[in-house]
Amino acid sequence: MNQSVSIPVPLLDVNRDNRPLREEFLAALEKVVDSGQFVGGPDCQQLEQTFAQLCDAKFAVGCASGSDALLLALMAIDIAPGDEVIVPSFTFFATASCVTRLGAKPVFVDVDLETYNIDPAAVENAITSRTKAIIPVHLFGQCVNMEPLMELASRYNLHLIEDCAQSVGATYKGKQSGSIGSVGCFSFYPTKNLGGFGDGGIVTTNDADLADRIRLLANHGMRPRYHHQEVGINSRLDSLQAALLNVKLPHLSRWTEQRSENARRYFDLMNRAGLGQHLVLPHCLNQCGHVWNQFTVRIPGGQRDSVRQKLADARIGSEIYYPIPLHRQSCFAYLGYEKGSLPVTEKLANEVLSLPIFPGLTTEEIGSVVSNLSRILMGSYEGLARAA
Ligand SMILES: *Cc1c(COP(=O)(O)O)cnc(C)c1O
Repeated sequence: MNQSVSIPVPLLDVNRDNRPLREEFLAALEKVVDSGQFVGGPDCQQLEQTFAQLCDAKFAVGCASGSDALLLALMAIDIAPGDEVIVPSFTFFATASCVTRLGAKPVFVDVDLETYNIDPAAVENAITSRTKAIIPVHLFGQCVNMEPLMELASRYNLHLIEDCAQSVGATYKGKQSGSIGSVGCFSFYPTKNLGGFGDGGIVTTNDADLADRIRLLANHGMRPRYHHQEVGINSRLDSLQAALLNVKLPHLSRWTEQRSENARRYFDLMNRAGLGQHLVLPHCLNQCGHVWNQFTVRIPGGQRDSVRQKLADARIGSEIYYPIPLHRQSCFAYLGYEKGSLPVTEKLANEVLSLPIFPGLTTEEIGSVVSNLSRILMGSYEGLARAA
């Protein structure tokens, strides 16, 4: 096999995982269609049970999206106006919007340059008498260094709400993400490691009271029917989504293994090509089981955008997660964060680039990504002979 051949590579192709399961999906859909029950029901219960087991959590409650999972978690711990919630600025928008939706204040902190995850020292500096919770995000599939945060949470009596949208199956010191804090919040958005066929989400917790309250809040605070104990929202997981996810879930560990194998191949090829001198490879912590939702490199020296364009010219897909830090978004201008106030986050926003890592990627495609990067960054195919 000649790994220096350039072939087009998509950033993500969900059909490669889905196609072999097509008949099973259709059978699952047919069952729901014929059942006439489209909200709740046996498929939702089955998904909640198997998902809780997967995460080593006692309870799982389905909801309409990962964004709602975060919102419901904050509602369940009574986040209200006047409260502060500490969040990383280098993350997807939903990590912070759930805070403002409840009239509370997101307090943005910086991340670690190597792991891209929230910096525990920055969290400690941001704690005030109004702080109620911290939302660590297990970004790109690698868990946050949780122990310092757990220590802060118990010292200052704070809730840890884990944003697990990108980390299903990831571990920290042998513990599943979503089983460590008060609540874990997961997404079934199609680009996540367990992607559905539309929107969906689920929360995990070991606390029976929180699980019960989240279930109540996700259903208009209604129990029994038409008796509203409190003002909740309508955020349920569709039976159709649950039925399809039940088909996918048994394959998740195999897909995660393929993502890890792809990551190993990238490390091997990039190191052999000498690319390590031109870009910064992902940093893996020993105590973490990474699930590689993204393979994100850093391209310093102001070259990232031109590299991305040249990859696009060679029909190699890539994406910038995330180009504008949350503390610099116009909707959060009222919070008053100046440019340069969270320097690591701002540097990452200018330098990160996520490369194709999805399961089903072929060795030829990974070779093509690496050879094109070598050509673009090293000006020649010089490294490729070594990589091939
Ligand atoms: C995807 C994502 C969410 C939101 O999930 P949705 O299901 O799209 O609402 C929240 N946080 C992070 C870090 C995400 O990547």
